[in-house]
Amino acid sequence: MAPEEMSGPRFPGEMGMSKARNPSRSALQTVDREAFRARLAEVLPPSDILSDPEDMRPYECDGLSAYRRLPWLVVLPSTVEQVQQILRLCHEEVVPLVARGAGTGLSGGALPLDHGVVLSMARFDRILEIDADNRQARVQPGVRNAALSEAAATYGLYYAPDPSSQIACSIGGNVAENSGGVHCLKYGLTVHNVLQVTVVAMDGELMTFGSRALDTPGYDLLALIHGSEGLLGVIVEIVVKLLPQPETARVLMAAFDRIETAGAAVSALIASGLLPAGLELMDRLSIRATEDFVHAGYPVDAAALVLCELDGLREQVDADIDRARAVLLAEGATEIRESRSEAERKRFWAGRKAAFPAMGRIAADYYCMDGTIPRRRLADVLGRIAEFSAESGLAVANVFHAGDGNLHPLILYDGEQPGQLDRAEALGARILGLCIEVGGTITGEHGVGVEKLDSMCAQFGAAELACFHAVKNAFDPEGLLNPGKAVPVLARCAELGGMHVHHGDLAHPELERF
Ligand SMILES: Cc1cc2nc3c(=O)[nH]c(=O)nc-3n(C[C@H](O)[C@H](O)[C@H](O)COP(=O)(O)OP(=O)(O)OC[C@H]3O[C@@H](n4cnc5c(N)ncnc54)[C@H](O)[C@@H]3O)c2cc1C
Repeated sequence: MAPEEMSGPRFPGEMGMSKARNPSRSALQTVDREAFRARLAEVLPPSDILSDPEDMRPYECDGLSAYRRLPWLVVLPSTVEQVQQILRLCHEEVVPLVARGAGTGLSGGALPLDHGVVLSMARFDRILEIDADNRQARVQPGVRNAALSEAAATYGLYYAPDPSSQIACSIGGNVAENSGGVHCLKYGLTVHNVLQVTVVAMDGELMTFGSRALDTPGYDLLALIHGSEGLLGVIVEIVVKLLPQPETARVLMAAFDRIETAGAAVSALIASGLLPAGLELMDRLSIRATEDFVHAGYPVDAAALVLCELDGLREQVDADIDRARAVLLAEGATEIRESRSEAERKRFWAGRKAAFPAMGRIAADYYCMDGTIPRRRLADVLGRIAEFSAESGLAVANVFHAGDGNLHPLILYDGEQPGQLDRAEALGARILGLCIEVGGTITGEHGVGVEKLDSMCAQFGAAELACFHAVKNAFDPEGLLNPGKAVPVLARCAELGGMHVHHGDLAHPELERF
């Protein structure tokens, strides 16, 4: 079977996209794969171009494995010059392209494109420089997140943003998704920890945004690249900030007999003026699944647990731990344990970080949602998610960055059972609708990808979406970089019925091209 015949079950990114509205897309249908492969072979050794279905199978999805498509072609460049040449070639031949880091994304951002190239950045895995004096590191985008902190540890430094996928995910992917993590409450998201990025534009031009100094003049295009999900350019180099390792860090693990009470305790901790390094919440389902898997010492009878890490100078941490303990008790914690050693602190976090994979032990599939709400609404929203779960008949496990108000309801389903994925998606959309209703957003850190295009129509109006399209058009007028992801076409939103779009807007080529 030809690869183009092997499409997966569904591609929400394509809903509502008609070929007639997408000139680049109709042009690219005529590109012959073998002829294009031959042209790529002028740039890359044949071993770095994959076209055999079995070789390309590992690239057919990212962490959102419900959506799959066998790639048309996969390329594995090793140098910036090769990336530039590949993009120039795609530009010339009107072939779309999706950059891929480690493929751990949870919104289908790296899902292969129909008749498009998957550009794997896996070989860009070198830490180019650690400048300990200036607390900076210059890295290639394929460097694993955890590898950077491991290397910086020699200098007593570390890289703060720590997604739970940090042993696998790449720094380039982190920038493209503006990833968060357990320690982002205190130390900021990826965007707050990156000083400079170098990207290759679709026409092969190399551009550098930001600088190694405190500020740069002009529009803040460094921030724009963060969370751009591979739609504006391919990131080929990143300069990040490194932080000194704190003198000490300790974790309080507090058990609660109601999840709503645990949610209220999180709000109370922040309201008390404390700024924990990490503040996470897990519900009963995730506590039990994780404990069976990792044996982190979690209280399996609790309805919820809160993990609260405090870091800094020893005396300050001692005082903060006492204050946090008092707040947690006042909010109804039934049991509190404190990490007594670095090994125990790591064990407490190991459970939290393994919570997603642990779901694989209790359900055939899980669908990880990612929405953000104002923290003070946590108790109320968690209660309503439980109601939605009961109504849909699908269990939901909650494990999330509570201090940031960043929810991760994990909807458990069985993709082999007819209709269950549809129900999981409907439940997910309902939860995201609730996030918007209470003043939050449809993503905290996992991006939009193909998964949340419809929710973007609920989050934004026509004017904001038109602005996104104009930005895209300024970087990639042909709409060849990761088309069909992250930003819905206005027509799609109009079809969903939630948006009044002027006919003139729809006819505007800049708004319809990708
Ligand atoms: C178990 C698990 C836990 C997770 N926990 C967290 C968490 O705590 N916080 C969090 O934020 N995320 C989390 N994630 C999601 C995911 O790990 C992050 O989104 C991560 O940043 C993706 O990195 P990646 O290298 O795997 O990127 P990929 O999945 O390969 O790509 C993600 C997006 O980035 C684009 N991209 C990748 N590399 C480049 C590049 N060099 N140039 C331009 N665009 C590029 C792709 O086109 C795609 O749109 C988790 C995922 C899993 C599976």
